[in-house]
Amino acid sequence: MRDLVTLVCTECGNENYHTDKNKKLNPERIEFKKYCPFCRKQTLHREKK
Ligand SMILES: [Zn+2]
Repeated sequence: MRDLVTLVCTECGNENYHTDKNKKLNPERIEFKKYCPFCRKQTLHREKK
């Protein structure tokens, strides 16, 4: 029961990361602080809808 999700930079909208999550354990949207190569800094990345 794992679903692939796309993590999008909330500052530039770049799709920088792909991950998977368990929707049963994490039904809400996930957010990660990750490095964005486009912004060239750590930004908040949010699960794409
Ligand atoms: Zn960015």
